[in-house]
Amino acid sequence: MSRASNLSDTDLRAEVRAWLAANWTQDKAQAIKQSQAVWGASDALKAWLGEVVEARWAAPRWPEQWFGRGLSNDQGKIVEREFAAAGAPGTGQCRTNMWANTLLARGQPALQEKLIGPLLRNEVNMCLLYSEPGAGSDLAGIRTRADRDGDHYVVNGQKVWTSGAAIADYGMLIARTDWDVPKHLGISFFFCPMKQDGIEVRPLRQVTNESHFNEVFITDAVVPAENLLGDLNTGWKVLQTALAYERSIMGEGARGARSGAQESKTEEVLIQLAREAGVLDDSVLRQDIAQAIAYKKLNALNTARAKADMAQGTSSSVMSLGKLAMSRILHEEARVRTAILGADSLLEGGDYPRAEDANFLTLNAYFTSIGGGTDQIQRNIIGERVLGLPKEPEVDKTIAFRDVRTNVQPT
Ligand SMILES: Cc1cc2nc3c(=O)[nH]c(=O)nc-3n(C[C@H](O)[C@H](O)[C@H](O)COP(=O)(O)OP(=O)(O)OC[C@H]3O[C@@H](n4cnc5c(N)ncnc54)[C@H](O)[C@@H]3O)c2cc1C
Repeated sequence: MSRASNLSDTDLRAEVRAWLAANWTQDKAQAIKQSQAVWGASDALKAWLGEVVEARWAAPRWPEQWFGRGLSNDQGKIVEREFAAAGAPGTGQCRTNMWANTLLARGQPALQEKLIGPLLRNEVNMCLLYSEPGAGSDLAGIRTRADRDGDHYVVNGQKVWTSGAAIADYGMLIARTDWDVPKHLGISFFFCPMKQDGIEVRPLRQVTNESHFNEVFITDAVVPAENLLGDLNTGWKVLQTALAYERSIMGEGARGARSGAQESKTEEVLIQLAREAGVLDDSVLRQDIAQAIAYKKLNALNTARAKADMAQGTSSSVMSLGKLAMSRILHEEARVRTAILGADSLLEGGDYPRAEDANFLTLNAYFTSIGGGTDQIQRNIIGERVLGLPKEPEVDKTIAFRDVRTNVQPT
């Protein structure tokens, strides 16, 4: 019996509120705000997450064995709302922590024991070793291989667009473990240790002039057998679990403006911008602003619907709507900002933060429309799984992967 399952909603609300009042101080909030990092967690955030995990608020829907309280989905929402109202991070990870959720759902006990706590406390940095130069949208076409050798696997190949690889401790890796079966059936899923001689990480520069993702060259890297998730050759299924979490997170939000200005709601930002630029009376821009706000509101309702479906255990394909919608929202918002600024949007640099933000958001919108599966692939998923349209032809779906015709050099 989990400790909070008998609590009424009112008692639960009172408990979490009292805990936050006693533990979430202004000093901690300030320290976390000041130490924010793009990748990895600051010491201040880690220390706070440690407290949240200790108090069993980090993943309240999970069982006690895994730092949870066995709460229902609705009671989990109560906890999340209280944390959000206090501005405190760290709860709801039973819904949002892709790494820990995938490990809990499919991992072996030894690895779960070793990493679930550290993942909740953000003490380990992770990356996704999925895409390859010849396999992005067609992810099942990967050619990185993993071969069993005693109590470990030896991995060889190349990954690309790997966000955060430079500081990662582990990568969630898909690699081919059987070449004589059709492509989806010969893939396995691993937690691959990144800090080893067989892994070389080379940073790539993005259109935003940032450098968040990397090429990863893998040469005889060693992965312990206990780091296999799911059964051998069932990695495609494990990947679906991880992708569902990734898409749901990407559908919920995205990075804000680069200027660091405190971003408020879309409606406030766009209206304020139009007022400052003296174009608030322009009927076309007013229409555009209304459209951008409407997209965002609609997506919030759709995300709530998708979450309700997930809570009932229904397929998460509706989550694809959220990610696609977020991509459209981000492109549209950036376009409207640029239209409001007019020729001023061509300016750049710290003296022109409005233009800087509009340009950054325009370029950064591609993060959501490509990362985690492109808009076109999301549309295919929606067409096939939500609307029931005929599947795309896949000529290589049923032949042994070894016999698939390709222009990529054989491994
Ligand atoms: C910001 C960012 C972060 C990323 N982080 C990671 C990461 O951490 N780890 C990782 O493994 N990968 C990462 N990626 C890679 C990302 O998942 C791939 O870029 C994406 O899946 C597309 O693959 P690709 O680049 O090979 O494009 P391709 O698959 O070559 O696609 C090229 C174009 O063809 C279209 N296309 C392809 N197939 C179809 C089809 N069947 N129907 C219709 N159109 C199609 C695509 O939509 C796209 O417009 C990241 C990408 C971005 C942008």
